[in-house]
Formats: sequence, structure tokens, C-alpha cells
Amino acid sequence: MAEQRVKWVVGNWKMHGRLAENASLLQSVAEGTGPLADVIRIGVCVPTPYLAQAQALLSGQPLAWGVQDVSTYTHGAYTGEVAAEMACEFGATLAIVGHSERRAYHAESSGLVAAKARRALEAGLTPIVCIGETLDEREAGTTEAVVGAQLDSVLNLLSVEEAARIIIAYEPVWAIGTGRSATAEQAQEVHAFLRARLAQKDASLARVALLYGGSVKPENAQVLFGQADIDGGLIGGASLKSQDFLAICAAA
Ligand code: PGA
Repeated sequence: MAEQRVKWVVGNWKMHGRLAENASLLQSVAEGTGPLADVIRIGVCVPTPYLAQAQALLSGQPLAWGVQDVSTYTHGAYTGEVAAEMACEFGATLAIVGHSERRAYHAESSGLVAAKARRALEAGLTPIVCIGETLDEREAGTTEAVVGAQLDSVLNLLSVEEAARIIIAYEPVWAIGTGRSATAEQAQEVHAFLRARLAQKDASLARVALLYGGSVKPENAQVLFGQADIDGGLIGGASLKSQDFLAICAAA
């Protein structure tokens, strides 16, 4: 039932930020999110080196923080990788996995993304699993087949109890960073499809939070978040400006 679903707005900073600018952004976002904390959950996924800064500035505030990727391993000879447990040591509670930029530039398969989601859960992080079709796939009429297969990879690996703890972000690749958001109708159509697929696996999974991502701005947030199956957003570019990010949070 709709009232049992949790609303989320999460910022994905990608590879942006420096200590000084992060400090003012985190502080103003934390101040602004206070009054919204009863209604929605808000988080920011920062570049890994800034986890300690997020922890220092956000501890005790109603603003969660997390990472943008995790390793499938707990430790070992994996140069450059970051274990989920390492993020947890800095108070992180969220982990984006399977962002389309990682799928495209780091050849991450849906199988690998599913393993990352499970690893994040094992460490106690909430994975935000990103799925979405390319423009070619949409134009070929294969959107549902593509996002359905991406979702199934995760659902097939996780138990129902585990799957109930994930967040899913539907991010059409053609809408990310392009300024061209999906229309509310396009987004709702895919969200409804994903929710039905979750419910097919187990009725309890109909409550999984389904976020929309891709060129969300203060101007389009309200209509997107007003759709029946959209529970909030994963915000890239607009999460780097506190006013824009807070306006989007207020719309959720
Ligand atoms: P965007 O990015 O809001 O800048 O389009 C969204 C994302 O990549 O998560």
C-alpha cells in the first residue's frame, strides 16, 4: 500500500567536490533537510575520499550519506577497490550500485551489479540499484525487456527478505546529465512495470522504494514525484547546488 512506502531523495555527487565546497554544501543541505525529515529520507552519495568529511559534518543530522560503488569482495589483493565494510566504518548507510556510468565505462554486468547489491546488504548498507535503458533500446521498443532483465538479475540473487531492503533507481541512460528528463508518463509507465515485477516475485516487494533519476530539476520534480509509483529521486547535477537539491527534496 502506498502509505507504507518510504520516500527517498538521494544526491549522487559523482566525481565532483573538494573539501571546502563540500563543507558548505553539506552544511546547507543538512540545515535545509531538517524540517523535511518527518516526511522523506534524504541522503548524499559522495566520492569515497570524502566519507570522513560527511561523517564529521552530518553525524546526528537527519541526512544519510553513502558511496557510489562497492567491491564484491570484503578485503584482499584488489587494488583500487573499496569494501562495503570500509564505507560502514565512516558511518555510510547507502551505496549506489550499477549506475549506468559504471555499467558503460567499467563494463559492469547485471550479474556483477547484483553481487554488489548483495555485498552491500551483507555489510549493512542499503543498496540503490540503478537500472535503465539506452536511447537505442527505448527506440527499439525493448525498454521493459532491458529493465526487466536488469531487475531480475538482482531479484534472482537475493532472498525476498534481502530484496525488501533495497532501493531501485530507474534511470533512463538517455536522460542522465542530458537535461532531457523522461516525461512523468514515461517514467510512471516503467515504474509501474517494475513494481508489478517486484510484486510477482513476492507481494511484500511491492513496497520497495522506486526512485526516478535523470535530469531531475526543481522545475520537473513535483510532477515526476507526483506519479503513483515514483517514490522519489536519484539526483545528479542538481544535487551539487543546495538550493536546487532542497527544492527537489521539498517536492517529494
Ligand atoms: P542527473 O544524473 O540528475 O545529472 O541527470 C542522475 C544520475 O546519474 O544519478
